[in-house]
Order: sequence, then structure tokens, then C-alpha cells
Amino acid sequence: MARSRKSGRPIDTKGRQPHFLPVHLFSYHDGVLHCEGVNLEELADQTGTPAYVYSAETIRGNFRRLDAALKPLDHLICYAVKANSNLAVLDLLRREGAGFDIVSEGELFRVQRAGGDPAKCTFAGVAKTADEITAALRAGIHSFNVESEPELERINDIAGSLGLKAPIAVRVNPDVDAKTHKYISTGKSLNKFGIGLDRAAEVYARAAELPHLHLRGVQTHIGSQILEPEPFAEAAAKLVPLVESLRDSYGIEFFSIGGGVGIVYDPALASGDPAWWQSADHPRRITPEDYAAAIVPILQPLGLRILFEPGRFMVGNAGVLLSTVQYVKTNPAKTFTIVDAGMNDLIRPALYEGYHEVVPLRQTGREPAVMDVVGPVCESGDFFAQDREVPPLAENDRIALMSAGAYGFVMASNYNSRPLLPEVLVEGEKWTVVRQRQTLEDLVQGESIP
Ligand SMILES: *Cc1c(COP(=O)(O)O)cnc(C)c1O
Repeated sequence: MARSRKSGRPIDTKGRQPHFLPVHLFSYHDGVLHCEGVNLEELADQTGTPAYVYSAETIRGNFRRLDAALKPLDHLICYAVKANSNLAVLDLLRREGAGFDIVSEGELFRVQRAGGDPAKCTFAGVAKTADEITAALRAGIHSFNVESEPELERINDIAGSLGLKAPIAVRVNPDVDAKTHKYISTGKSLNKFGIGLDRAAEVYARAAELPHLHLRGVQTHIGSQILEPEPFAEAAAKLVPLVESLRDSYGIEFFSIGGGVGIVYDPALASGDPAWWQSADHPRRITPEDYAAAIVPILQPLGLRILFEPGRFMVGNAGVLLSTVQYVKTNPAKTFTIVDAGMNDLIRPALYEGYHEVVPLRQTGREPAVMDVVGPVCESGDFFAQDREVPPLAENDRIALMSAGAYGFVMASNYNSRPLLPEVLVEGEKWTVVRQRQTLEDLVQGESIP
């Protein structure tokens, strides 16, 4: 259970209105960063660093708040597994009633290993292989989000050979500008995802002729880290006429409007000032209520089940990456604070100019100074902050890179032969290592010298 920042007493988040939940349950008590009721300095003494830490109650609170906001709709939230696929996270969301949006056979395996129901799984992705389609059909997934005509034909053939009917939705690209980073925008016709709105009716007509397909729905997804409700409303409104006509001609049952709800990474306050964390809202935040208010009036009249595929929203603010300062290096132009976490552990800054707040685990009271915070990897892209005001840090001080719960560990690699990090799940005053740190032996597992 979380504790009040002022009194240190436990906060009963379960008893609160969902929209009064803070952004996440990381906060300082007696000058030390805590996750819910767990002192992160003490945790790091035991796990070592770098390490990922997730707050169970934050994830649960996010699910419940979104689920509550969508109540006017007959809906199913299919958590996008790719954002954070740890079994413990999947188990937690399964218990809340979530379905899952998967993009590979590996993710299907994880969902099943965590006790998830394949009948609540949607399968997305532009390159589904025959083996993946076979595994998903055998498992009895909810539906495939089909991204191309050749994929329709392939799914039909495989379903026929298995004596099954494949449930499908076609991913339709509404050509709206999600106003996000170019690498995470997917709803423009220039990128590889989905089928253009102008061709969608024709593709459904073709699909209806294929005997081993069951046309169950329509799907769209316009991108990620979207911070305004308007692009979602625009995409939904653009697709409504198509969805109505498909409902009337083929009896489709659902409309999935994908994921993409953004989170606050950069609160535009001095880094290290955590006051904003405790508020339920932030001027830069798209709240579940804002999101619902924009789309519910457009979707409700369809009378269909609405599917949602949020990933980042569910877990992004719920995780941090703990790291320890190794060296502080100063030259006439800059100060570099060199930490033990690297771009192989958290690639967002290098890959899409992603921002993470850098905060000390122990508050220093020192005035912030401009510096770069960099990792150990032999690449200039290996940085977490550039020319940013951060409280001055010394060797062995620990930091947290905030909001690292989504697209963090899941994108990690062994580059530079660095073992993959442990993941820790905090629940109230308890914490559990839900993935062990890799050992040096793990690094060479499966390799041989001929
Ligand atoms: C990545 C993805 C999602 C999840 O995106 P978030 O921005 O993490 O919410 C949902 N649906 C599809 C099809 C995706 O590719």
C-alpha cells in the first residue's frame, strides 16, 4: 500500500475515486524515494543497480481509471503486451479483467503462461508468419488484426487446413496526423501499417468471399504517445461510416480503436521537483476522462463492442530504472555524470529522443546544475539527459530514471555484453524480483565454438 507523502501513513488507493489517483505512487519520505511503501535505497542495496522497479498499485489504478471512464461503452481493454511483457505485469492485468493485444507467438506464449485467456487476445503486426497464425488459431484467439490482403489469403488458407474459421478484423488506416514523433506515428498513409480507408470496403468484400474467415470487427491504431484527445476523435469519426456499413452488411461485432494514449514524461518543471507527481492531472496529461469524453459520443451510437489496446498508458508512469553514478567527469564545456545504466537497458532517448526525468534516490538539497547524464556504452547516443538541470551527484549516489515502465526493459539488449536487468514488482510494503538479473553464464547460453 502507498503512503501519504506528508504523514507517511498508508494511502488506501482502493477507496479513492479513480480520478484522484496521483500520476504514480513514487514519492519521497524523509528525503528518500519510495515506491508505494518500499524505500528504494534499501531495495537497491539488495538488488544492486541498474534495476527496473514497477508499482503494482499504479498499474492497477491506471487500469481501473480507464475502465471506469469507458463505462458508457460495452468495451474490452486489451493491454498491449509489447509495452511491458513481464509475467507478473500480465498476471496483474489479467486479474483486473484485461484482455491482451499481442504481436508475436512469443507474446501469446507469455499471456498463456501468465494465465491469460487467448479468447481475449487480439493479434496485431504486419508480418505474421504461418507458424504464428497456426499457433494463434489453435489457441483460439479473439481475432487477428489483418494488415494486408496477402495476409487475409494466408490466414484463410491456414484456417482451412486446420478445419477452422479465423476471426478477423482489418486494420484500417484513417490517414490522420497523430502529432507525435515520426517513428511512433502509424495512422498516416505514408507508413506501412493497415489498409487505406478508400480501399477498406473492397478488402472486406474480398474477405467475405474467403470461406475460412469470420469477419468480426474493424480495427485502427493511429500511433503512440498522443497527448490530445482530438486525433482519436478524428480517427473514430472518419471510420464511423465504414463501421456502420460493415455492421449492416456483414454483422461485425466490434470496433477496436487501438492504443496510443500518451503519458507525461517531461512535466516542464525543474527536474527533481516531484510536486506534480502527486496531482491527479497535469496540464500536459491526457486523462482517461478527457479521452473518453472525446470518443464515447462518437462510438456509443454504433451499438458495437469497443476494444481498446493501451500499452504505455497502463505501465509507463508505473516504472522507474534505478542506476548508480560511477564517475563525474568535467571538461571546460560540460559536466558528465556517468551512470551504470546504458542505452541497451533503456533505449528510448537514443531511439526517439525520449525524455526521462532524472531524480536522486536521496534528496540532496543542492541547487540543480546543468549536466549530461550518460551511460557506459560505446555510442554517443548513449545518454539519458543532455544539458539538463539535475541536482549535482557524486560517485555512488543513486538515481531513478522516471517513467520507464513502458518500452523500457522490453527493448533492452545485451549490447556490449551487458546482462539484462532484474525487474522488481512492488506491492505495498512488499517487493518481489519478478525477473532475475542475467548472469555472465546467461550471456553465452546457446553459443558454441565449432
Ligand atoms: C503499439 C501498439 C499499441 C499500443 O500502443 P501504446 O502507445 O503503447 O498504447 C496498440 N495497438 C497496436 C496495433 C500497436 O501497434
